[in-house]
Amino acid sequence: MPELPEVEIVTRRLGASMTGSEVESALAPGMNVMKTFDPPLEALAGRELTGARRVGKMVVVEFGDLALLIHLMSAGKLRVFEKRASPRDKASRVLVRLGDGHELRLREAGTKQRAWAKLLPTEAVDADEMVARLGPEAWPPPPLERFAAAIDLPRHLHPLLRHQSDLSGIGRSWVDEILWEARLSPFKKGSELEREEVERLHAALHVLGDAIEHYEETIGPEIPEKFDKPLKIHKHEGDPCPRCGTTIEAVFFSEHQTNYCPQEQTGGRILKDRRLSKLLK
Ligand SMILES: [Zn+2]
Repeated sequence: MPELPEVEIVTRRLGASMTGSEVESALAPGMNVMKTFDPPLEALAGRELTGARRVGKMVVVEFGDLALLIHLMSAGKLRVFEKRASPRDKASRVLVRLGDGHELRLREAGTKQRAWAKLLPTEAVDADEMVARLGPEAWPPPPLERFAAAIDLPRHLHPLLRHQSDLSGIGRSWVDEILWEARLSPFKKGSELEREEVERLHAALHVLGDAIEHYEETIGPEIPEKFDKPLKIHKHEGDPCPRCGTTIEAVFFSEHQTNYCPQEQTGGRILKDRRLSKLLK
């Protein structure tokens, strides 16, 4: 599941390799992928790809005054291929064929078609409902006061930090790393934080920048098929905490999990497994 650091590196690599290429044709084999119909995707033909950028967890690929806004959701992948997709590739959602033979391809494995794209006037991207609702970007970190205001809500930090209209870019993997870095419980409420804890959490956002740096060093010019996320805590239940050696614990929900170090984040308490306690009700 791509989050801010992964989407950032996708847009950087895409922009570096594809800027200046001319579009030969564009089509959407994914029947439900395009959320806009006017202008049609074919309007990209003959245009030049002028850049790529990230907004929250979304990708914006610009073609002069038109832009493709893409949300990869959990299974979407945006990559550049040297050859055209086979018409039999059931995972193809959007294909932008470039004059030099390369193809920018949005693929999504599985039958659930969740990834989507919109073709918009470039100047209208920021006003799009999905973009306009986003809270401040988690990285580079917003000013401390803006961050403090964004998280001053009576909700648990784990969902709160992932709620894109409060703070944008963080998902289920990086939230665990950030909370561990800040030594805060995923079940502490945003509005209950002491000033010093808010500052610690704000400082912990550097984890996202560190991840981008890691990808810059380990990923070549091509966007990889799969990201090897440099996670220390998320999905590391049973492993020793890299800082204090205490066994990392997990709380499982129906579709996700959160991991934490009980020694440093919850005052030694092992949190209840929500999945099991639900079954026992
Ligand atoms: Zn620890």
